[in-house]
Amino acid sequence: MKIDLHAHSAVSDGTDTPAELVVAAAAAGLDVVALTDHDTFDGLPEALAASPAAGVRVLGGVELSAEVDQVSVHLLGYGCRPDDPGLLAELARIRRGRDGRIPAMLAALAGLGMPLDPAVLAATRGSAVSIGRPHLADALVAQGHVADRAEAFATYLADDGPAFVPRYAADLPAAIDLIHAAGGVAVIAHPWGRVSRAVLPEPYLAALAERHRLDGVEVDHNDHDDQTRADLRAVAGRLGLLATGSSDYHGTGKTGHPLGAHTTPPEVLAEIDARIAAAGGRALSG
Ligand code: AMP
Ligand code: MN
Ligand code: MN
Ligand code: MN
Repeated sequence: MKIDLHAHSAVSDGTDTPAELVVAAAAAGLDVVALTDHDTFDGLPEALAASPAAGVRVLGGVELSAEVDQVSVHLLGYGCRPDDPGLLAELARIRRGRDGRIPAMLAALAGLGMPLDPAVLAATRGSAVSIGRPHLADALVAQGHVADRAEAFATYLADDGPAFVPRYAADLPAAIDLIHAAGGVAVIAHPWGRVSRAVLPEPYLAALAERHRLDGVEVDHNDHDDQTRADLRAVAGRLGLLATGSSDYHGTGKTGHPLGAHTTPPEVLAEIDARIAAAGGRALSG
């Protein structure tokens, strides 16, 4: 059983349509893929519809933009009821923050001598309901300012880059509670990658586990080196947290990792399924 619990479609900052993602998952030899677009469930119906023909189970998910002490932390929610009013309201608020910061980032890029053509950005955004920095990165590539997404981030868009503008994100403990209230399972994405390690030391993870029933942490992820994975796996073991692994696939030909680059053991998925069932969530699958 090959299980990849973190992948994006063009409904957020991936490049495959949800149906294409499911077909790609089959081609990659996956038995299960979770669609975890940033801050939206909008891709789930299409992914689910594509599931039977592809012979791949689709687990419904979301990657919610949260923060601790104003540092970005991503929270994966699995099996949430996609019509839960409280969760939907928070996701809509986050997406408004995503839209709202774009003019300031465009102004910053223009100030750096790189005015982006609105038509180009509209094209790179495509049908995404959740706009993100990768769409700006792709527009910078399209206009010839940088070679690829990675260079766009390294030079301009990263959290400490000259064109970065922060946006609204949910308070992490409250976000965990929202996912549970929607019947879902809460797993912190790449907790010790990029920026978030400093705000997620073991005692804080322990408090989240104890007071908010945090379910798990994503251990096997490309943003974690071997030592980081070993250390985080040990923390998960001590705290009784589920340890997942996943690709964080964002599509073909872009910065990112192929589907199945990292996987989650079947017994961990079985526990996630059991918790979703116990909480009255919706383990969308086909
Ligand atoms: P945003 O959600 O608009 O804040 O943008 C964050 C997204 O940008 C993440 O979900 C990744 O897909 C992507 N990203 C963040 N950092 C990098 C990086 N250094 N290189 C490439 N992509 C990145
Ligand atoms: Mn992304
Ligand atoms: Mn993420
Ligand atoms: Mn992701």
